[in-house]
Amino acid sequence: MQIRARRNLVGASRAELAELLAELDPHPFRAEQVYQWLSRRMAGDVDEMTNLPKALRQALAERAVVQDPEVIEVRRGNDGTAKFALSLADRVVIEAVAMPMEGHTTICLSSQTGCAVGCIFCVTGVLGAGRNLTGGEIFGQYRAILRREGLVGAPVNVVFMGMGEPLLNLPNVARAVELIAETVSPRRVTVSTSGIVPGIRKLAALERRPKLAVSLNATTQEQRERLMPIAAHWPLAELLDTLRSFPLERGRRITFEYVMLAGINDSDEDARRLPRLLRGIPAKVNLIPLNPDQRYLGELEAPDEQRISEFAGILAAAHVNVTVRWSKGREVAAACGQLRGQLTIRPPA
Ligand code: SAH
Ligand code: SF4
Repeated sequence: MQIRARRNLVGASRAELAELLAELDPHPFRAEQVYQWLSRRMAGDVDEMTNLPKALRQALAERAVVQDPEVIEVRRGNDGTAKFALSLADRVVIEAVAMPMEGHTTICLSSQTGCAVGCIFCVTGVLGAGRNLTGGEIFGQYRAILRREGLVGAPVNVVFMGMGEPLLNLPNVARAVELIAETVSPRRVTVSTSGIVPGIRKLAALERRPKLAVSLNATTQEQRERLMPIAAHWPLAELLDTLRSFPLERGRRITFEYVMLAGINDSDEDARRLPRLLRGIPAKVNLIPLNPDQRYLGELEAPDEQRISEFAGILAAAHVNVTVRWSKGREVAAACGQLRGQLTIRPPA
């Protein structure tokens, strides 16, 4: 008997499901039913799709599976933050995080298994490049967390702030966003980028456009290149110009993330330059005190609290909307820049 590889339905588009279902059932609405089971009700198996006739479920199960990345470890912090290690089909391990907030849970997803951008303050970047996740792996990561945490149907925000640079994997991230948007408004989905200019332009053209966050981290081209090698490719001036024409709905802003590094980008001068850079862009600034890691990030440190509040004070005095993001999940290494899935790769069975 010939065994045909069964395709994974997680991540399939409406059109792909329509093509598959057309071979099995004459009713065009079946594909939409399956799509809803996968993207709204987060069904874990074809058998759960109870409004499909039994014979169709059987035929579908012969050709297809519903398979999310497997959660192999969960670590929980005192503040409720949960960090998940998820194993992909090729046994590469990635990480994702769920953070309980007031009135919702924020889910932080990975878009790649490493990161080639190589920012010197980021563990994922220091460990280097990985591969792109497929749309199904990104969406499956999300489904796996919702199912495991009992969050199906609950209010969630989604941020692409885990491992990887989402705009270097835009087609797959866009597919995942499209699937997530079945249950979550794109206004509650944020894509964070290190500043990939062509990717930002493509994101701007998406029909269901998520919110944009940009990791700025520096106030001069020279300083930025030192911290984020990619900055040499996409200079600050070009990045800011692109952002000035990014389409925003009324009252919406672009978030600028600024990882604070003691003695490197935390001077009064930096604080005075920043508002000038952002002129003409509806912006809010998120100051993120560095999450240190002696093993991977060497001597880099966060400024002390007083320096951070003085820096924030200079921004506020210049009418910049600024918040300090004290990272959640530090004690389980689930905070920004601490995700490093590949180190926990399991040996083959
Ligand atoms: N690659 C994308 C998204 C993932 S990184 C990006 O760079 O935007 C998500 C955020 O974590 C970025 O804003 C980044 O600047 C921040 N970050 C990285 N390493 C960090 C660290 N060690 N401490 C605090 N924030 C960090
Ligand atoms: Fe990659 Fe973002 Fe980390 Fe930079 S901060 S290395 S872009 S994941």
